Amino acid sequence: MGRRRSKPKAYATIQSVQEDVTGSRTLVVITFSNGNKFRLLVDCGMYQGSVEEYAKNGSLGFINAELIDAVLLTHAHVDHSGQIPLLYANGANCNVYMSQDTKRICIPLLENTCQIFAQDNNPMYNENDLNRAIHAFETIEYDEWVELKNLMNMPSGVSVKFIRNEHIPGAASICVQVSPENEESFRLMFSGDYNMSNAFSNRITTMPEDIKKNPIAFFMMEATYGRKTKKNMVVGKFENDVEKYIGMGKSIIVTAFANMRMQNCLYLLRQMQDKGTLSTDIPIYIDGGMGEALTNIWPILNTVDIKDFLPQNFHRASTDKKKLIDSEGQFILVTTSGMGNFGPSKEYLSMAISKDNMVIYFSGYVSNESTARRIIDAKLGDILDVNGAIKEKRAISDYTEEMSAHARAEDLQSFIEQFHCIRTLVWNHGSNTSKLAMKERSDKMENVDVSTINDGKIAFKVDKDGLVKEFTIVSIPVEKSISKQPKRAPKRNKKCKTTRRNKRATGY
Ligand SMILES: [Zn+2]
Ligand SMILES: [Zn+2]
Repeated sequence: MGRRRSKPKAYATIQSVQEDVTGSRTLVVITFSNGNKFRLLVDCGMYQGSVEEYAKNGSLGFINAELIDAVLLTHAHVDHSGQIPLLYANGANCNVYMSQDTKRICIPLLENTCQIFAQDNNPMYNENDLNRAIHAFETIEYDEWVELKNLMNMPSGVSVKFIRNEHIPGAASICVQVSPENEESFRLMFSGDYNMSNAFSNRITTMPEDIKKNPIAFFMMEATYGRKTKKNMVVGKFENDVEKYIGMGKSIIVTAFANMRMQNCLYLLRQMQDKGTLSTDIPIYIDGGMGEALTNIWPILNTVDIKDFLPQNFHRASTDKKKLIDSEGQFILVTTSGMGNFGPSKEYLSMAISKDNMVIYFSGYVSNESTARRIIDAKLGDILDVNGAIKEKRAISDYTEEMSAHARAEDLQSFIEQFHCIRTLVWNHGSNTSKLAMKERSDKMENVDVSTINDGKIAFKVDKDGLVKEFTIVSIPVEKSISKQPKRAPKRNKKCKTTRRNKRATGY
């Protein structure tokens, strides 16, 4: 009699309605053979960029907050963390797991977001919701398996390992291991935002052997820069530009994201001072509540190795913004928000745009509908609307993308290639063209059985052998949100051959 393989019973459904980069949130519902469910939410971020994107905030969509057993936070960027308090405004009763540094960064960041909301007529969440959320923050050490408890405070059969990732300080890629009783365990992996290295770290992102060697049933991987290659990467532009514009007698307003970009700009200015390419006579100012708060805590973060990064002749800008803009002497100001739509940069840009002794410099990603985009696209002499001020553009504008915190296509590819066996790979967090560009690469990989993209409309059902079905998401909540008919029959190519493993996974 042939050996009959018992059918695996435990499975997971994974769904994320994220279509592009912002608004990261992925619901994972693990169903055990006895019918018990464990509901995990990986990240709960805000939509950002255009007005249309921003309008999607304030709703949890397919997520029933009361049913969530645990939230896993990959890192502190607002587009991954900014809606966590909304879960508590909607009755969540679970822990939010994150690394220590993510907690340190996330608290001031959410407090700041909450303060901004407080000015709204109909705020998304209030201080009470925020406090309840912060109370639920649990820190997890990197590289240690932690078994999660369910809402009844019972062991869940679901364990997680946070793996340090150099995207920003505190960032993690997360491995989820499902260990049903008397069944083979399986793993799900969530890259979070990924970068190999960053300016403040002496390390490169390194996956533990155990994570690389064991098969991964489902892998959700970011693809932000799936179409950008390292070949086309400009390095050193910021320093060259600062030297050039200061040499021309201009003052420079650098807009930067509060979390890491502002600190990165300051560190580059410091390095220029150390090299002698920037005179310490030029005062350097910062302006932006959250940016300042994060700059202050930066040296105490465990994952920041470069603690001494502030330039000389460094000051907090006075509250009189006009006085600084009208001042005679040269200066450099680093201010938030990065795209010029919000915060102090909104005011500075509307004043500086008509001054021919100014350079407006954008230090990162610029979305199509942003103030930054309009300024970059305008020619000198054009009349344009800068945050409500109709002015002639007389200031020079310039930008660099070199400080991006996301890996380029080749690095995304080699990150995936280091795993021995990925049953289902889903490219997420990027434009469709970026995700498809990465899928084209992963389709050729020997270690990947099935690769696909998340277009925000599909839910994936996986078991220990990988993809079982793809479903079209039709309504909420998740258990009822998937149509009866599979959209596509799964193809289990089994390209990656792994030896049959023991019934239970190796100890952790
Ligand atoms: Zn991020
Ligand atoms: Zn992100």
